[in-house]
Amino acid sequence: MTKSIPEIFATNVFNDEVMKARLPKNIYKALMKTIKSGAPLDMTTADFVANTIKDWAIEKGATHYTHWFQPLTGSTAEKHDSFINTTPNGMAIMEFSGKALVKGEPDASSFPSGGLRQTSTARGYTAWDPTSYCFVKEGSLYIPTVFVSYTGEILDKKTPLLRSMDALSRTAVSFLRLFGNNVVTRVTSTVGAEQEYFLIDKKMYDQREDLILTDRTLFGAKPPKGQELDDQYFGNLKPRIAAYMADLDEELWKLGIYSKTKHNEVAPAQHEMAPIFTTSNLGTDQNELAMEIMKKVALRHGLVCLLHEKPFEGVNGSGKHNNWSMAADDGQNLLDPGDTPMENLQFLTILCALIKGVDEYADLMRISAASAGNDHRLGADEAPPAIISMFLGEELDAVLKAIEEDGVYKTETKNFEIGVNALPSFPKDSTDRNRTSPFAFTGNRFEFRMVGSSDNIACPNALLNTIVAEELSWFTEKLTPYKDSENFEQEVKKLLKEVLKKHRRVIFNGDGYSPEWVKEAERRGLPNYASTVDCLPHYTDDKNMRIFRKFNIYTQAELTARTEVLLETYSKTIRIEAKTMIEMASRKLLPATLNYVHSVCDSIAVKNQIGMTCKSEEKIAAKLNELADKFYDSIERLKNQLKAACEVSVIKDQAVYFHDYVLAEMDIMRSISDEIESEMPCDVWPIPNYTSMIYNV
Ligand code: ADP
Ligand code: MG
Repeated sequence: MTKSIPEIFATNVFNDEVMKARLPKNIYKALMKTIKSGAPLDMTTADFVANTIKDWAIEKGATHYTHWFQPLTGSTAEKHDSFINTTPNGMAIMEFSGKALVKGEPDASSFPSGGLRQTSTARGYTAWDPTSYCFVKEGSLYIPTVFVSYTGEILDKKTPLLRSMDALSRTAVSFLRLFGNNVVTRVTSTVGAEQEYFLIDKKMYDQREDLILTDRTLFGAKPPKGQELDDQYFGNLKPRIAAYMADLDEELWKLGIYSKTKHNEVAPAQHEMAPIFTTSNLGTDQNELAMEIMKKVALRHGLVCLLHEKPFEGVNGSGKHNNWSMAADDGQNLLDPGDTPMENLQFLTILCALIKGVDEYADLMRISAASAGNDHRLGADEAPPAIISMFLGEELDAVLKAIEEDGVYKTETKNFEIGVNALPSFPKDSTDRNRTSPFAFTGNRFEFRMVGSSDNIACPNALLNTIVAEELSWFTEKLTPYKDSENFEQEVKKLLKEVLKKHRRVIFNGDGYSPEWVKEAERRGLPNYASTVDCLPHYTDDKNMRIFRKFNIYTQAELTARTEVLLETYSKTIRIEAKTMIEMASRKLLPATLNYVHSVCDSIAVKNQIGMTCKSEEKIAAKLNELADKFYDSIERLKNQLKAACEVSVIKDQAVYFHDYVLAEMDIMRSISDEIESEMPCDVWPIPNYTSMIYNV
């Protein structure tokens, strides 16, 4: 990199600084009013903004523009139109109108809608979301948009997030008024998404249909070395990885993404990128963009970036730690406890609102991280269990205990002494970390650790925002009668005590990976939805429907449709995996096995002729022959199960069938294949093995 970071940072982003510099004052002001308070944008302003963006984008090398949106497919969508228009004398000019900036009309019929939209009413609209920045990439101007159907139902992941941000802001502002804050006008949810990923050599990847078609290995015996030496986490970066990360950083910085931290993760070939947090809407767009760039930059280095939650069995999978908080426009982080949390009643009330919310809507939090991929990871001693609980740490626990017992808690600042004079001493954090908790307080934010590495973070954040909006409005309603009373503080504490008594069960500071916790959670009555098919049907439970409607996040039809799309996606994912397994097994792995058995038998025949003994050959041939028979039977069973699954017509029942029968048979088939692989010579096994994939970069 020849230029400094500030020189390249956000060079391809039409951000506040560019707007201020390029737009006339009155236009800039009108646009800001739309961005900050949601005021409608008039067409004259839109035309002006469009023209300015176009000129800027052309300077950056753009010839096209695209409305960029996040349908329910799991990736982003874009359709490029060039800026050109005709002139009377047969020449071309570059044009871009306010209308084209604000509204697009992609044919919606090829995007999942969960039955909301018949093909006959295929019209869909994309609408500019001015709260996220436009940017230039690969010769096009990207305009972040939301996506709705002709009849007004939402068809994307961004709209519920934006709606939830509004709901959270409204309720949080009223809540803050209770505590005497009359200056705050907007509260914004914030997110910093730590992104985990794997890098493997493209040459290995190209030889494996499972990776190409499903992003994960469906076969593969465990390598002799796993994670037992703990030598990968924070390990030094190999030159090829370091070069990739440097290149990635530069690309992300150009797009205005504050890539901050990079390191090796726990599993071999696993790494992480963490950006500095920002608002949830921008953070979501940037995470989607980051995932795309990560994949593209990898190809330039002859690598493939895998974002699947569990690309390799037996080694840790990848998640996305979703760090979440709320920022008020007076500069406060609403989850900052301050130096003496016991005296910070506003913070304690917000904390109790979260405790109540997480307990009451644990199912929604679980759902927000539910996918076929993430099912392999949650509860597998490498990621949080499927049981939702909260970790608060020693100090906050003590403070809450004091509230419950009408006691007091005094914060003591302790210094951390290392015992070497030359080293500086520093204040000790008031709490340790807990890696096993799904929802952990980390000093001034909560870290939601269940989210899968390939997930769009709009959904978890929309749900968190909605839950917290509901709880803050509940507290506001309960406490408003005491607002100006001298008993306010007492009444707040009384309410917190009640809430804690009822909802303390969701707090858990122990080892979330231990089998005891599963039993303990059951005793506490906490839900434990092991798989996607267990939790998804609860999306539309009455209590959940009620808050979505109350805050105008989803209509009943929208939520029902969304649940269907998620269940269908689940079934489709497993169907593709099963078909890939059948294809690989019957056309590559089983033939290779039979060929090898054949060659061993040939060798036995030859040796027998000259009177040599063939003990080992006979054993190997017999063993592999038996395994091959089992393998064949399993392939046939999987074919039958797959056929039966496809015949189930009720969406939910079909997903359950895929889970209970198809996935179960896939597991059996894999274990047979993995056993065969460990008995076969490397050079005749037709696909790269785990060692060469995860240890060779
Ligand atoms: P760790 O691995 O210890 O959890 P990292 O530094 O890797 O820490 O990641 C922490 C993430 O939390 C970063 O993305 C950071 O920007 C984010 N973060 C910090 N403060 C907030 C906040 N107030 N709201 C949301 N995210 C935050
Ligand atoms: Mg973290």
